[in-house]
Formats: sequence, C-alpha cells, structure tokens
Amino acid sequence: MWFDLHRHLEGSHSPRALLTVARAFDLRHPTFFDAARGDFRTEAELATSLVMAAPSDDANVFYACIVKARAAYVSIAAIRALCVLAFEEAAQDTDGFEMRLSLFSMTRTLLENQRGSWRDVPPVRFAEDFARPILTAVSSARDEVQAATGKPMLLRLGLSRTFESAAHYDALADMVKEHAAALVGLDVLGIVTGADTEPLPEGLLRVLERLRPALPDLTIHAGEFAGHASVDRTLALGVRGIGHGIHSLQSPATLERLAREGVTLEVCPSSNHLLLPSALARLGHAMPLASLQRAHVHCVLGSDDPTPMGTTFQRELQVAREGGVDMARLQADVARRWAQLQR
Ligand SMILES: [Zn+2]
Repeated sequence: MWFDLHRHLEGSHSPRALLTVARAFDLRHPTFFDAARGDFRTEAELATSLVMAAPSDDANVFYACIVKARAAYVSIAAIRALCVLAFEEAAQDTDGFEMRLSLFSMTRTLLENQRGSWRDVPPVRFAEDFARPILTAVSSARDEVQAATGKPMLLRLGLSRTFESAAHYDALADMVKEHAAALVGLDVLGIVTGADTEPLPEGLLRVLERLRPALPDLTIHAGEFAGHASVDRTLALGVRGIGHGIHSLQSPATLERLAREGVTLEVCPSSNHLLLPSALARLGHAMPLASLQRAHVHCVLGSDDPTPMGTTFQRELQVAREGGVDMARLQADVARRWAQLQR
C-alpha cells in the first residue's frame, strides 16, 4: 500500500476545488472572481497564482500561493466543503494518507477574513468559538470521505514555529486535548527567516509537552531550510518522524543516530526541488531519498503541498522510482511507519 505520509491540508486545495467552493458560496474575491468579466476565473487562470512556476530559494514565492488559497476560508461551512474536496482528491491519489492540519493558522485566517484581525479575540474565545468548530468540521469531513472511499485517513495537528501568541496557543492546546481521539499526533512546521530558520520557541516546547501525553506521536519539520544541527536538536525531543531532514546528509553522526533510533524521515522530492534549489546543489545528492536509504535511514514519501508544488503523490512515486530509490525498501518503511500510527 502506498500511503502519503507528509501532506498539508492548506496546500491541498486544488484550483478545481477552490472554484467549486467559490461558486457555491459566491466568493467574489479577486483571487477567484474576475470583476471586469463578471465571472469566476477558470481553473487554468487560478492555477497561475496557486502553483509555483519554477524553483526558488525564496520561500515567500511558495508562501504566497498558500496565502492565495486561504481567501476561501470565509466560514466554517466553506472550510468544511474545501476539506471534503481535499480529502476526496487525496483519496484518488493515494491508498490512504496522513493530512496535517495547521489549526492556528486556519483559525487566524478565518478571523482575518471575517473580522479583519485575530489578536483582539481573547484566547479562550479564539479556541472555543473558532478553532474548535474548524477542528470539528475538518474531522467530520474526514470521517465522511473516509467512509465513502474506504481509504484510511489520519489527521495530524500542525503547530507553527512562528508562534505568534503564547496565550492563544495555550488555549488552543487545552481545547485540542479534548479532540485527541480524532488526531494521530503533533507536528511542528512553518517558515521563518532570521539566523535560526528552524527554531523551537520555548513557549512552543511547553505547548508540545502539555499535548504529548494525549498525542505522543511527534514529528517536526527540520533539516529542510537549516542544516543537520536542526535535526540533531529535534532528535533530542524524542520525535518519531522528521519532515524532510535531508540536511542530515551533511553529517555521518546524524545519519547514524537516525538509523540507530529508528526515526523516520518524511521526504518530499518535488518540494525539495522547488523550495531548496541552491541547498540541494550544495548538498550534492541528486536524490536525497536514495542517499538516505543507503545510510540505512528509514524514509517515507510525501507530496507536501501538492497544489503549490504542482504535483501529486503518484507523481512523487514516479520521481522516486526514476531517481533510483529502492522502492521495495520504501514500501517496507511506509508499512512500518503506518503501523506505528495505528493506535
Ligand atoms: Zn511539510
């Protein structure tokens, strides 16, 4: 079975799905609606603003695509409709998947779209009146599509390292604990700039520690925009998986520790190709996934953000195969990781 084990909900809204929801909810936002023509845009027109045209070391090019799609997060009903379509499309593309849900950023976006700001919403109201209905909507959309397709679908809660407000994250964590049964684990994600591009803010570490008794399976994006030290720091937290982690290839000691501790790297070839062109060239490995396998590191495959990256999970499988990845070993590692996620 080929499960997509690194895929983000916010990057899984296709032009087709966004236009379906824009029409259903009459969203005449300029991203979806051409006022001069008096009609909704075509899928091809929308794709030009949602899909990266070429590789870029500037992560803002990618982030701008994500921000565009968020214009459709106007109500709980619209978010639920988008989720149903995202899960249906992911089901067609895979034998099953784990989807990452950036609940804080979805809640912040809903508030921005409805009221213009989120910081003036008290933390408990932020969590109870906005984040909880979003989580319930995503989870019920998952249940509905999982039942209809028969394909297994796991949800992981993603917490961004941008960590805009400790009080709002704390309130969110208290609420999420009550929904732990709907989730498979926790993830840390997010793009930041500065000296440390993959920081783990103290406050965020405390939130993770509070949630881990309920959600022990922790993954962290590391060794993507930063070097192997970011992976070493992440390993100290007892993670089960690391998003990307390709910079582990800089350090034999890091590779050895990953292999010894049985931590899985979630590798996304097209994502790396598009977001890290210079870093990949410096690293000197044409297909990091194949090199990591040769170092005896457990690796699984992910599509990451299929819409901005213009890919599918099937395409990632093809890229891996053509890049010399040991597909039997990959399949065994996918099965191993999938078994860890069944609890
Ligand atoms: Zn990711």
